[in-house]
Amino acid sequence: MPSAATLLRDVFGFDAFRPGQEEIVHTVATGCNTLAIMPTGGGKSLCFQLPALMRDGVTVVISPLIALMRDQVRGLRAAGVEAGALTSGNTEEETAEVWAALEEGRLKLLYMAPERLASGAALGMLRRIGVSLIAVDEAHCVSQWGHDFRPDYLRIGELRRALNVPLAAFTATADAETRDEIVAKLFDGQPPQIFLHGFDRPNIHLTFAAKDGPRQQIMGFAGARKGQSGIVYCGTRARTESLAQALSQAGHNACAYHGGMEADARRHVEHRFNSEDGLIVVATVAFGMGVDKPDIRWVAHADLPKSIEAYYQEIGRAGRDGAPAETLTLFGPDDIRLRRAQIDEGLAPPERRMADHGRLNALLGLAEALDCRRATLLGYFGEAAERCGNCDLCETPPETFDGTEAVQKALSAILRTEERFGAGHLIDILLGNATDKVRARGHDTLPTFGVGRDMDKRGWQGVFRQMMGHDLVRPDPERHGALVMTEAARPILRAEAPIRLRREVAQRTARPAARAL
Ligand code: ADP
Ligand code: ZN
Repeated sequence: MPSAATLLRDVFGFDAFRPGQEEIVHTVATGCNTLAIMPTGGGKSLCFQLPALMRDGVTVVISPLIALMRDQVRGLRAAGVEAGALTSGNTEEETAEVWAALEEGRLKLLYMAPERLASGAALGMLRRIGVSLIAVDEAHCVSQWGHDFRPDYLRIGELRRALNVPLAAFTATADAETRDEIVAKLFDGQPPQIFLHGFDRPNIHLTFAAKDGPRQQIMGFAGARKGQSGIVYCGTRARTESLAQALSQAGHNACAYHGGMEADARRHVEHRFNSEDGLIVVATVAFGMGVDKPDIRWVAHADLPKSIEAYYQEIGRAGRDGAPAETLTLFGPDDIRLRRAQIDEGLAPPERRMADHGRLNALLGLAEALDCRRATLLGYFGEAAERCGNCDLCETPPETFDGTEAVQKALSAILRTEERFGAGHLIDILLGNATDKVRARGHDTLPTFGVGRDMDKRGWQGVFRQMMGHDLVRPDPERHGALVMTEAARPILRAEAPIRLRREVAQRTARPAARAL
């Protein structure tokens, strides 16, 4: 049986679990009764879809939302999973197809509207087909006092008893009364495993910084935390080796870790990290599974992670003991270019590639956020949050300005040079630098030439990076370094939507290290 992480990647195309998912998947897959409370948009579906694939037999999914069931069935089929729905919205053909798949024992997930449970025929059918798990979406519908009450949900407890299989219930409604009612009605009062944690890890300090001599930035960060256990994540194997060496030379206890190393050597590093104090492991994302160390004091990303989910998972390795922990994530235009290229050059179907760009945008949005980092991060996972006071943006709110005009000037430079040049050349045009390349192309005669003299080079670099971060421009996959405009930029070009940008300032001095309790 493939592992949950393998299925997550191969079937669903995701590189990391969302907060909470892994534990829930594990618990449900091992056959425990489970109640998971997760915010809307947090990724509940996966918490029963993955266990459904990991377990023998059919998982019955009960949901009150017909459109949503149909969406999920469509999505699962597109991913090559045998799934079907029995709802009032079915054509006769669809129903016949579902029955045929059930009879042949092919179906892995059977979605059903609760009304179906009212007929005795349904129960007989479910008894015959080898159900191994019942998943109940929107479980609060069982609550007679809530406004989503569905009388047919009261039959689910009966169904569970009749089939004698584990049940996993999911809802976004967290209040204690509803929870008690779910336990009483769905689990006969036998307490299931309950998952109700927010996603916040308040002891982890969050910082992002634009790359500006990245090696020195990492060395500075580690230097301020000498003697503490930490992880530096790098985008390439080569970089793990060279950075580990540089850290060692600077007197740190540091070593590299990546997937290209022998299994023995990797285990050795894991063992050392788990048992020694104050070791720095400079690693690719391959490092993490074998790590079980509660007192990792810091995690730095020397390169931008792959997605916001991967970011959360990787920084989440710090501070499991609850004591203060620090993180630093570096990012720059080259990271964005690399991550976009990886998506575009991948073998995933077009819709998945679009979704991957979307998830990368979410991370870039976090990197370029203007307000509380944590509130932005948790908001992405569906959880509302106040300003946290424990991130770089809360501590030092960025200076912002109305960037609409600057973005328009930059877009104009891009369009007038036919989307064929990179930021360096475009900035020369905006600043009115008559370099050889500018003159050779006649770009010193463009109306855009010199219109950006009100800002310096560093300021323009910031504008271009933020434009990439907001997905207003993308690197041309065909032409190295060239920037092309995206649809998202059109409203700004037409002055229909304003945009606020962060003003670039000199790098702040490094934060003092967190003190371990
Ligand atoms: P809800 O909790 O509201 O039921 P869904 O299960 O519909 O949320 O998931 C919300 C979105 O998050 C979906 O688009 C889904 O594809 C995406 N998603 C879920 N898990 C992950 C993951 N581990 N990595 C990336 N995206 C994910
Ligand atoms: Zn904050």
